[in-house]
Amino acid sequence: MIKLKPSAEKLRAYFVNDVPYSVKLDANEGSNYLLNDVFKIDNFMPDLYPDSDSRSLREKVAAYYRCEAKNIMMGNGSSELINTVINAYCEKGDKVMSFVPSFSMYRTYCDLCGAEYVGAETESDFTQDMDRLILGAREQNPKIVILCNPNNPTGYVTPRKDVVRLLEEVENSLIILDEAYADFSEDSAIDLINSYENLIVMRTLSKAFGLAGIRVGALIANVETVKYIWKVKIPYNLNILSQYAAEQALNNIDRAAGYINSVRKLREELSGVLKNLNFTVYPSGGNFIFVRSPVDNLFEKLMDCGVLIRKFDYEGVIYNRITVGTKEENEILINEIKKLMGVSI
Ligand code: PMP
Repeated sequence: MIKLKPSAEKLRAYFVNDVPYSVKLDANEGSNYLLNDVFKIDNFMPDLYPDSDSRSLREKVAAYYRCEAKNIMMGNGSSELINTVINAYCEKGDKVMSFVPSFSMYRTYCDLCGAEYVGAETESDFTQDMDRLILGAREQNPKIVILCNPNNPTGYVTPRKDVVRLLEEVENSLIILDEAYADFSEDSAIDLINSYENLIVMRTLSKAFGLAGIRVGALIANVETVKYIWKVKIPYNLNILSQYAAEQALNNIDRAAGYINSVRKLREELSGVLKNLNFTVYPSGGNFIFVRSPVDNLFEKLMDCGVLIRKFDYEGVIYNRITVGTKEENEILINEIKKLMGVSI
């Protein structure tokens, strides 16, 4: 098993007793008097700490991801989980590898704990050569390899055979598969958690479930790894309202497939329109598309019309990442772009 950093290794997990009680005087909790009338939720007890282990929510998350509750640790968004894991395994001098460009926060979390972020270059069309990452990992011996699949911001989807190759060939690093956008593509590595002890999959309710505001993410791994890293889990990290809202959402999960399909359809429509407007559009497995625009300063010009997109500068070339909106939002975006290009609407 890949070891936590020594200062984390000696920690003991914080467990909260789950015993029946008639009087609870063990956690210095106050009484709820401000929110009595505000939330009409069964058994709403904001005066008590939430279930630190998110037991009931984990059962529901496990059913959706086809694993068991004991394979899951919940977090305050997957952001918290990614940061916690990097910080738990890495101390100053340890390396973390990932393809670049990828999700910018990986580097920030490394900086926060003194780890060195080492990038493996992607190809000029933003596809990823897995050999490059594997060879890099052999040379650099990183504590952690992170693969964002589909990749933010480029949208690149790593073929399953490459994911498996990474897991087969890099055994001495923890492999984090960040699947924040996997609901929008075809594949997931969750079914591999019991085959690879060093695999951790990160999922989130922020994208395909449209619940970014409730901050709920899940770390999914084999039971031993989950138990092991429980040492570094922050007690009560997921508040009562988030646990409640996430459970309600998962009760309606049969609606997710329809939403996901509609985003995928809108993504292809939007990609088609932008290609016709001479944008370079990179294939995407996420709820966004990564483009090169024929309009200079597109980001700034759209901002002036109240349309927000993202701008990236790679080696002096400007790219944009555009979230797939609703049909109406996409139409507004396209009309503004057409206006900027002098194309009739
Ligand atoms: N991973 C990736 C690749 C992301 O793009 C994001 C959000 N932008 C996250 C993780 C974090 O998501 P959250 O904390 O909302 O679960």
